[in-house]
Amino acid sequence: MSTKQKRFFLTEEEIPTQWYNIQADMVNKPLPPINPKTKEPLKPEDLFPIFAEELSRQELDQEHAWIDIPEEVRDMYKYYRSTPLVRAYGLEEALDTPAHIYFKNESVSPVGSHKLNSALAQAYYCKKQGVTNITTETGAGQWGAALSYAAKVFGLDAAVYQVKISYNQKPYRRSIMQTYGAQVTPSPSMSTRAGKDILTKDPNNQGSLGTAISEAIELAVSTPNCKYTLGSVLSHVTLHQSIIGLEAEKQMEKAGEYPDVVIGCFGGGSNFGGISFPFMRHNILEGKKTRFIAAEPASCPKLTRGVFQYDFGDVAGYTPLLPMYTLGHNFMPANIHAGGLRYHGAGVIVSQLLKDKLMEAVDIKQSESFKAGMLFAQAEGIIPAPESSHAIAATIREALKCKETGEEKVILFNLSGHGLIDMAAYDQFLSGSLQDFEVTDEDVAKNLSELEQII
Ligand SMILES: *Cc1c(COP(=O)(O)O)cnc(C)c1O
Repeated sequence: MSTKQKRFFLTEEEIPTQWYNIQADMVNKPLPPINPKTKEPLKPEDLFPIFAEELSRQELDQEHAWIDIPEEVRDMYKYYRSTPLVRAYGLEEALDTPAHIYFKNESVSPVGSHKLNSALAQAYYCKKQGVTNITTETGAGQWGAALSYAAKVFGLDAAVYQVKISYNQKPYRRSIMQTYGAQVTPSPSMSTRAGKDILTKDPNNQGSLGTAISEAIELAVSTPNCKYTLGSVLSHVTLHQSIIGLEAEKQMEKAGEYPDVVIGCFGGGSNFGGISFPFMRHNILEGKKTRFIAAEPASCPKLTRGVFQYDFGDVAGYTPLLPMYTLGHNFMPANIHAGGLRYHGAGVIVSQLLKDKLMEAVDIKQSESFKAGMLFAQAEGIIPAPESSHAIAATIREALKCKETGEEKVILFNLSGHGLIDMAAYDQFLSGSLQDFEVTDEDVAKNLSELEQII
């Protein structure tokens, strides 16, 4: 066995005291979200009925690069942070690559994923404002689990709409949310107008993040003292997730290296942005040449096959219009196991960065992601979440390129979560019954042509 140092940590004092807001440093700022009723650029006040006020301000802040982490939130971060930065010697050996591979292990959070970093912040700002109830949507259940726990920490009641397919495929996540004290409803449901509309048209609708978001927002705006929260896509979520990259930056320094490539899996962009933006800052400000790669599923390829346009964030069209790479808010992703990546659009910051070629995107088929997850589990001992396996697959592609060229590149990826509650998915892979789903350019064009001209 190797005696080389494998894991790098920070002391409590070294845990960052501020989040990083890349919007302040971007040369081309994201276009403004648009209020669909007035067709005017959104102001923070427009978001107050839905989100906590401080989160609404963070969402549209293009001015302040650094935002203080409230002491109450940082105190909670200390329960599981810093998360380890790990040199993946085992994976390097398995691939016989000269590349140096590192991963940031966000799976060690109490709920098993990076999602808690933003859930704690969002629950805190709601509590501080006197909110008593919070609602949200969840796909695979990772965000719902994080929010349910964060709500409990800050003494709030949580109501979670879970995408129906995941509610049935992943019953243990539902139990986890219920264990933390949340009320969980499969979406689409008959409890909201949006849900009823969808079920009337399509009684077998298995739901998507888009349907669940519509239901959660409807409940939030129709219930007193209740706010909605979102676990991905939005800029304030990515802001909170910058803790991942800020820690990784200090930890890489302890390891004596700097990444040539940074990789994250991509649902709406929060863990990708979280690990990437603190490093991208040095590309923007100091001309560093690090590459950033978002790994998305071939079945939901908004970055690699979507178009850049204004679109709604949800199926019913309750959200503001967002300038983003999208497959169309009416897009129904295939039922892949990486539920956290089944979303039709990308966050506005990432969309602008991709348009400006400050980052790249690759699409990964489900079978390739599971092969990568299996290899990683056997090499490093950690069973990755199916979402995270997309980042691992992209990392393996890069590491194998290094093997061909003999380059000793430094690759850093984010392990966004563990897969211990996803073993039914691994079971399907092991028994050979896992399916690949691919979306063609024609599918996307057809879907987008069905969208009413919204802007
Ligand atoms: C939710 C989730 C994702 C996808 O969301 P992003 O906002 O794109 O990070 C990825 N991995 C895990 C483990 C998740 O729970």
